Amino acid sequence: MKYVGAHVSAAGGVENVPFNAHAIGAKAFAFFTKNQRQWFAAPYTEQNIELFKTRCEEFGYSPDCILPHDSYLINLGHPQEEGLNKSRTAFFDEMKRCEQLGLNRFNFHPGSHLNLISEEACLNRIAESVNLALEKTSGVTAVIENTAGQGTNVGYRFEHLAYIIDKVEDKTRVGVCIDTAHTLAAGYEIRNKEDYEATFQKFDAIVGFHYLRGMHINDSKKEVASRVDRHDNIGEGIMGMDLFRFIMNDPRFENMPLILETPDETLWPQEIQLLYSLIH
Ligand SMILES: [Zn+2]
Ligand SMILES: [Zn+2]
Repeated sequence: MKYVGAHVSAAGGVENVPFNAHAIGAKAFAFFTKNQRQWFAAPYTEQNIELFKTRCEEFGYSPDCILPHDSYLINLGHPQEEGLNKSRTAFFDEMKRCEQLGLNRFNFHPGSHLNLISEEACLNRIAESVNLALEKTSGVTAVIENTAGQGTNVGYRFEHLAYIIDKVEDKTRVGVCIDTAHTLAAGYEIRNKEDYEATFQKFDAIVGFHYLRGMHINDSKKEVASRVDRHDNIGEGIMGMDLFRFIMNDPRFENMPLILETPDETLWPQEIQLLYSLIH
């Protein structure tokens, strides 16, 4: 079973998220556990939590098709003490929110070295940050997203993801999310069958499909190896439709959230339909 959805709004309260997902015909969804551009937010109330759970049940969303996303301010590989501590506190708070909602995975951007430390030192800090958060929570897997490698972001090589996983103590609660636009921008060709198979074979050899907990399904405005992160709507960027056809017919991407993060959200209902229509 393929679970396609989108990253929908949590405006007005987290209990609105399943409602917003249902409204666009999504079978999966992502959302920010709190305002993605602020450090602090009020904790969820009992009512927020109960209503979220009730609506998920009502609309048929199991935790396996829900992929909450961390806020943009968090940098778990921050080179400086203050930024690192602030990030770790916020990350822990957001992972706790996922636990409160009864969810089992939490998607995050690995981090940035800001040209102050090496990539390796940054990756070490990220792994340590994950270990600290996992110690204080239960039931939620930390899902590392691959990046386009824009600016000083790490996580653009499959080796980076594997390096972090290797240093995480509880392997049962670490996973990865692969973003199609980031993958291409990072330099992995996936637009024709041969390269698609080779890239995902590489992914399997270096990281392993058993760590895959979700996908971000995006077209890209920027060329392969551009290291620039610009999503586009499905069929409107440089990706072409073949990649999406490959994914929708590939059993390796079953039973996990496949999330659109495309820029024009008015197209999401059509994009979800379009992706399902590619299954043959
Ligand atoms: Zn993404
Ligand atoms: Zn992106």
